[in-house]
Amino acid sequence: MNQLALVTGASRGIGRGIVLELAKIGFDVVINYSSNETAANQTVELCLKTAKENGKQIIAEKFQADISVSQQRHSLVQFIKNRFGKIDLLVNNAGVAPLKRADILEANEESFDRLININAKGPYFLTQLISNWMIELVSDNRQINPKIVFITSVSAYAVSLNRGDYCISKAALSMAAKLFAARLAQFGIPVYEVRPGIIDTDMTKPVKERYNQLINSGLTPIKQWGTPEHIGKAVAAIALGFFPFSTGDVINVDGGFHLRIL
Ligand code: NAP
Repeated sequence: MNQLALVTGASRGIGRGIVLELAKIGFDVVINYSSNETAANQTVELCLKTAKENGKQIIAEKFQADISVSQQRHSLVQFIKNRFGKIDLLVNNAGVAPLKRADILEANEESFDRLININAKGPYFLTQLISNWMIELVSDNRQINPKIVFITSVSAYAVSLNRGDYCISKAALSMAAKLFAARLAQFGIPVYEVRPGIIDTDMTKPVKERYNQLINSGLTPIKQWGTPEHIGKAVAAIALGFFPFSTGDVINVDGGFHLRIL
């Protein structure tokens, strides 16, 4: 029986990159998305194709659920319980940027609430729900190695004055990873934070030119954009169990952005 991964926000961008790498190594995948069903269908097809090309036979299912809404989080988990009866890997990836970047002296509460709800509160309570189920599965001896991954951002520590709401939501998510790592260690459930830098997706399209200039002028020691595949490979390494004595660790996938250079 294949291992099963739920990846939130997997219809496009980084989430799609993650499910494709998981399909390559033979994981069944649940592709959660918010509204873009066409993209979710494409991701399902790409996963099946990628798995086949790599000699694997997998199940790929899409499931629409807004992770900021409690009842929809419950429906998502219920769907996985009914369809698969177990879960081996949760990847909290879904997230949004502010609809409009605004200086912190002017930004409004509506944008703050939206980002906190989707980027921090949603994954926090989804993880609570799935952690309790994983604990049950572990104690029933029905599986041995469940794992949880949080996709945060360099914005968990880097200041962007025109999107304070995003930075705060990612700093909160980074703390959620540490909290669950500490709480779940006794059950043998490791928790990892994967921290992307500047990645080429729909999210960064509006700032493409500005980031091109910053990268060319040396913002990141590795002078190139990151790709969804870069993040997917880090998650696949975790999924394969290559960090068995680590929990709560941050894995930077940022071209060296985090280095302070004198
Ligand atoms: P993206 O291309 O905009 O894709 C966002 C994904 O999240 C889509 O699949 C979208 O579904 C889904 N989503 C949005 N709101 C959701 C909700 N309420 N419930 C469920 N799914 C939802 O973004 P991305 O660049 O891949 O970013 C993915 C994650 O990486 C985010 O958490 C982001 O903060 C983080 N990140 C990105 C970068 C970067 O440079 N791109 C850097 C650091 C961290 P639909 O297709 O249905 O809209």
